[in-house]
Amino acid sequence: MASISQQNQAECREKAEYANVNWDELGFALTKTDYMYIMNFTLADDKFSQGNIIPFGNIQACPSSGILNYGQGLFEGLKAYRKEDEGILLFRPEENALRMKMGADRMCMPSPTVEQFIDAVKRTAVANKRWVPPHGKGSLYIRPLLMGTGQNLGLKPASEYTFLVYASPVGNYHKGELNFLVEDKVHRATPGGTGGVKAVTNYSPVYKPLTQAKAKGFSDVLFLDALTGSNIEEGSACNIFILKGNVISTPAADGTILPGITRKSIMELASGFGYQVEERVVPIKEVFDAEEVFCTGTAMVLKSVASITYQGKRIEYKSGAETVAQKLHATLTGIQSGAKEDKLGWTMAIA
Ligand SMILES: *Cc1c(COP(=O)(O)O)cnc(C)c1O
Repeated sequence: MASISQQNQAECREKAEYANVNWDELGFALTKTDYMYIMNFTLADDKFSQGNIIPFGNIQACPSSGILNYGQGLFEGLKAYRKEDEGILLFRPEENALRMKMGADRMCMPSPTVEQFIDAVKRTAVANKRWVPPHGKGSLYIRPLLMGTGQNLGLKPASEYTFLVYASPVGNYHKGELNFLVEDKVHRATPGGTGGVKAVTNYSPVYKPLTQAKAKGFSDVLFLDALTGSNIEEGSACNIFILKGNVISTPAADGTILPGITRKSIMELASGFGYQVEERVVPIKEVFDAEEVFCTGTAMVLKSVASITYQGKRIEYKSGAETVAQKLHATLTGIQSGAKEDKLGWTMAIA
């Protein structure tokens, strides 16, 4: 009898500690969680007020707000992982905070400080702790938003801003192979534009070529530089790397490439493994004789590219076991989930 009641107690505890989610079925879609964080900025106060955790739900905005009319907004994305011992880790949140500051400067917005940003992310993750998937089953994707709110009909930066953080448990971003179609008409970013910051306006212009490529059976598009059309830049939401011999190359992040935190982390890990890592112009013709191609991003982490199609020609690459991509992926996810020792100080324990 004692053992049955102990078992019941354990089950009850488990119910309270985890949300009712089928953790094995998680993809990359919104699962509403319990709470979100919100903090406001007014020109009158000239600072962000004390932020609060509130129940997750819809928000109100003036029809003439800067975010709705002129797209004055930024987003971020980072993940919280559950360790085997149930502790929770964030991965390099200060990098997201710094990137938001950089983007806010470009978009003429005030930004939360690094401390305010990290505090908001931590509080959102801890408040939604029961939604952090069990170790090995995925992660809690955290989405900070910075938006021009208040009223704003004229062409000028908003007078009020809202910083909001919500979260959703996620699993695999991409199921199946990554097959890229090189897009040679539409450009993702232009020199002097906002492709180098996480502006909310970066993705919708990409939907058209992406939808067309998907209709032809591809999983993503690979964009070329707008000036010459002869160098690769990145996918619609991921950075790209090519491997040949001992050299791993990725397009330099000098304005038209989103400076990914996964990208930066992979460059550091690859250097540590003894690869020569080069950030430079990568001509499309080099892609033809690469041995491996892979892409990186918080949502997908790192994934091998199975093929790239350019002007009707399809090139296939090594993927799966015993690739460099596989080794980098295992190392990075090991560090992120606490399974591997974090010698670089990238993770932050929050619970
Ligand atoms: C967010 C994003 C990435 C990946 O950046 P991470 O910090 O690694 O998540 C790559 N490309 C674009 C266009 C992005 O918006």
